[in-house]
Amino acid sequence: MKHYFIFLLVSMIYSCGNNQLPEKTYKIKTNQILHKKSTSLIVLGTIQDAGSPHIACKKECCIDLFSYSDHDRQVVALGLVDNNYNKKYLFEATPDIAKQMKALLKDAIQNKNEIVDGIFLTHAHIGHYTGLMYLGKEAANAKNVNVFAMPRMKKYLETSGPWSQLVTNKNISLIQIEKEQSISLTPNLMVTPFLVPHRDEYSETVGYRIEGPNKTALFIPDIDKWNKWDKSIVEEVKKVEPPKPTVSKSTKQVLSNLLKAPDKSGETQEGEGDDQTPDQMLLCIYC
Ligand SMILES: [Zn+2]
Ligand SMILES: [Zn+2]
Repeated sequence: MKHYFIFLLVSMIYSCGNNQLPEKTYKIKTNQILHKKSTSLIVLGTIQDAGSPHIACKKECCIDLFSYSDHDRQVVALGLVDNNYNKKYLFEATPDIAKQMKALLKDAIQNKNEIVDGIFLTHAHIGHYTGLMYLGKEAANAKNVNVFAMPRMKKYLETSGPWSQLVTNKNISLIQIEKEQSISLTPNLMVTPFLVPHRDEYSETVGYRIEGPNKTALFIPDIDKWNKWDKSIVEEVKKVEPPKPTVSKSTKQVLSNLLKAPDKSGETQEGEGDDQTPDQMLLCIYC
């Protein structure tokens, strides 16, 4: 886990504020990725919490999507695979979890189980944890799926229905994680949560540093204004190489603006609710 870098992907999370569908830069290509490399990180979704099409949307961006869904437009999630040790992990339990878990597992070299080996949660907003409901009795009725959660997030799940039922029914097995404390998943994979500023009504919000044998990724699905963070996004970006040209033009523009002129307003930069600012919603993965 010595080399810190490789690939930078910053994707705008499109919502109905955009009048055009996004470029399909992030198509899931699990066939190609998983068989080539023993460890892989897969972008399983880039859309804001509410998914696509957006409920009650009357704008042009969603009109066709209500009739013809676009399977590439799924809520933000990452897949992590170590084929050497036959382990697969999901970051975020989104409302699209059924399709995302299938996409992650179907092309793995070995897959005896239809459920991943673990799920890492970032926070208690709808696009990031409510997919856990599909592990319950009405759906998969899963057995002791490892769910990694920070202390407040864990307590929230244990003490609030219907989530607490998943715990009492042993559909999920909650594993408490702590900020800046690394979890070794396999000899090839290390994951470290770190706090980021966000609207923490029911839980903390974390991002994850994901270290593989050669590359390191930073996953920050939701964050308020960058200047509220105790780390400098500029400095964090400097630790990695400049963005590869695999990102779309609009995405590169967002990154460029971000680095030049940090917003001072202090308002949230995430998608859900009244404070939605679609042009600023970001999913960042620094490898
Ligand atoms: Zn979100
Ligand atoms: Zn959020």
